[in-house]
Amino acid sequence: MECPSCFQTETTFYGSKNAHDLYECQHCTLIYVHPMPAPDALAAFYHDYHKTPQYTRKLKSKQRRATKRIWSLKRLSKGKRFIDIGCNAGFAVEAARSLGLDALGIDLDSSSIEFAQRQYPLAQFQTISAEALAAQGEGFDIIYCCEVIEHLANPQTFLDALYTLLNDGGVLFLTTPDIGHFSVKQNLLDWTAIRPPEHLLYFAKPSLKQLLETHQFSKVNFRPNFKPTLKVLAQKRAANATRPQQGQGSDKAAI
Ligand SMILES: [Zn+2]
Repeated sequence: MECPSCFQTETTFYGSKNAHDLYECQHCTLIYVHPMPAPDALAAFYHDYHKTPQYTRKLKSKQRRATKRIWSLKRLSKGKRFIDIGCNAGFAVEAARSLGLDALGIDLDSSSIEFAQRQYPLAQFQTISAEALAAQGEGFDIIYCCEVIEHLANPQTFLDALYTLLNDGGVLFLTTPDIGHFSVKQNLLDWTAIRPPEHLLYFAKPSLKQLLETHQFSKVNFRPNFKPTLKVLAQKRAANATRPQQGQGSDKAAI
């Protein structure tokens, strides 16, 4: 079998949870579900996903935290176009809008988008995939994508879409659970973030960095975090810039 992130075939069985088998890629360290659930099984699982309490609880405090994050992203960006991909209840879009950004939230779940639009009538929301929006030729200066990538069966077309959606010099901010974090390395299978089929891909710094760099992102830079969540910033280099040698400059990014 191929690793869904790096396509290498060297893999070892890691364990089982919720009747799904997990394998660890020996090349990039990704842990992934195999076989992946069928698309219709996943669609059924995500129906009315926003109604789960974790997405509608504490919206005010989530918005405050997002405002702090987005304020610092805004300082790194030259332009004002902001997109939250997988925006769910929409609090980060509202945070960006209140900071003066031209903010859009997208999600595949139309009932999430209806909820977000009711909650934040001044913000813009759309039920569309990142891939479909990228095909329309849209461009953004800040892409915000929190706790989305671990839900995907195939990250390749998604990462291609993120890269296409990002304007030259734009900033990507992405978060996902960190299986390499000191607080969860032991007894990983007991960790609540390991929950197939909701989460299908489990990243640590090496696997996420490799995936982003394979998709042409530069200045891949992890923010320190005491909690087991990877917070990564990456940029799209200007179209006329030459590609640096692999391994150069990645961790010393100015962002
Ligand atoms: Zn791999």
